[in-house]
Amino acid sequence: MENLEVADRLEAFAALLELGDANPYTARAYRRAAETIRAAPSSVAELVRSGRVRELRGIGPGIEARLRELVETGQIGELAELERELAPDLVGLGRYLGLSAKRSVELARALDVRTAEELRAAAADGRLRAVPGIGPKTEARLLEALGREGQPRPRRGLLLNRAGDLVGGIAAAIGGEVAGDVRRWRDSCELLAVVCATPDSRRVLARFAQLPQIVAVVEQDEQRAVGVTVDGLPVELVVTDAQRFGAALVRATGSPAYVAALEPLPEAPDEQAVYHALGVPWCPPELREDPFRGAPPPLLEISDIRGDLHCHTTWSDGRASVEKMGRSAMERGYEYLAICDHTPAVGAVRGLTADDVRRQGEEIAAANEALAPFRVLRGIECDILPDGRLDLPDDTLAELDWVQASVHGGQRMPRREMTKRVEEALRNPYVRCLSHPKGRIINRRPENALDLERVFALALESGVALEVNGLPDRLDLRGEHVREAIGAGVEIVCSTDAHSVRGLDNMMLSVMTARRGWATPGQVVNTRSLP
Ligand SMILES: [Zn+2]
Ligand SMILES: [Zn+2]
Repeated sequence: MENLEVADRLEAFAALLELGDANPYTARAYRRAAETIRAAPSSVAELVRSGRVRELRGIGPGIEARLRELVETGQIGELAELERELAPDLVGLGRYLGLSAKRSVELARALDVRTAEELRAAAADGRLRAVPGIGPKTEARLLEALGREGQPRPRRGLLLNRAGDLVGGIAAAIGGEVAGDVRRWRDSCELLAVVCATPDSRRVLARFAQLPQIVAVVEQDEQRAVGVTVDGLPVELVVTDAQRFGAALVRATGSPAYVAALEPLPEAPDEQAVYHALGVPWCPPELREDPFRGAPPPLLEISDIRGDLHCHTTWSDGRASVEKMGRSAMERGYEYLAICDHTPAVGAVRGLTADDVRRQGEEIAAANEALAPFRVLRGIECDILPDGRLDLPDDTLAELDWVQASVHGGQRMPRREMTKRVEEALRNPYVRCLSHPKGRIINRRPENALDLERVFALALESGVALEVNGLPDRLDLRGEHVREAIGAGVEIVCSTDAHSVRGLDNMMLSVMTARRGWATPGQVVNTRSLP
């Protein structure tokens, strides 16, 4: 059994545990184990057989027992039982229609239906009304949602990394190409789509319906299907023959406004041919938001990046040591890495005092000896206090190679105060970069009321760069703001804010977000070599 298959089963188990109102920590533990297994370099089935699987992080005796059952019998008994009990296809469909998991299961029991298809038939027969608690209004809403045509959207966007894993996994399994919001690297993905060229559309549609990620198919015709995940997220599949693949991919990738401005599209086997026939230069997918027919400037590439200027270690809330982070950055081909742990005001996690900063300096010096000529830079992610002062004294900041300033607490300040607070920090002569300037957490916390225009002006004057933070739930500055910053002449830093070795992989998310803001290599500080 392949690692991916094992991980998929654990993931499915986690989703069902959540549906069954199990302890949320248990479900999360299975999800984390699935993640670990997906990234594991060696065969997990082998590790289980040799009794060594608990050497993997996050795998305790409970999960080991389930893994053993899965490897030895090909299934997890409790998972099969939960699948019978909870009917994930009904739950997926229910969530897609706006019902909670619990409500979907109740509805299914009341109607005595076992599958999504039976639920649709029951609804069409007018049997919904007979269910206690479903009035004519709810019935009308459900019927409308069931019959909905056009482009399906989830109730709220999915983080780019999760959307990428989901759609990427589906595309790989059916030999298709990722399209939709994921291909445009949108910070929050609503339109999840895959395009597949095949002479046998029936076979591909059938395979799609059987994927472990898809629990129910809610719409289908000969060229298209919409499936939903157990979380109720709609995923669209477009099937086409090879001669028309290019046009189908352009249509399924661009925003509606972008595509409309190019129509009518010539049928062609690949995108290059479509653009060529239209007489316009090929456009990178991440720029296909607003109508645009010109040639973009030579955009920043991941290969332009020479170092990462924002990461954490075990000194604050990171999971790896200074040397481990440095070595991992070196193995990625970087020339430098700035260690920017937190300062005490951050609150929820440990922060470094002036004393800690000096002691960390010794550890960084030792790492530099071990890793030379690679350079680990002494940095800090220094909190900006509510009054605009920084959380460490100037003489400490003066010792450092790279100072990031960050707003963490007290983010609900009115615009004038928040702007003053940040401006005050930018005036400090040691601050080199403003971290996650807008402070949003996607789906959880709105952007700070911050007057970006004033921040741009002051950043330019004091030579401070603005960060494009690559954490999947931040991506801050976002593309539109990157474009405004660059327009104002402000420099950008693409950073990961990694809290682990794997976190360094998020550079791609930062780079693509900067590209959405039309960033070129010359505008990005960490495309330069250290001097
Ligand atoms: Zn931060
Ligand atoms: Zn950070």
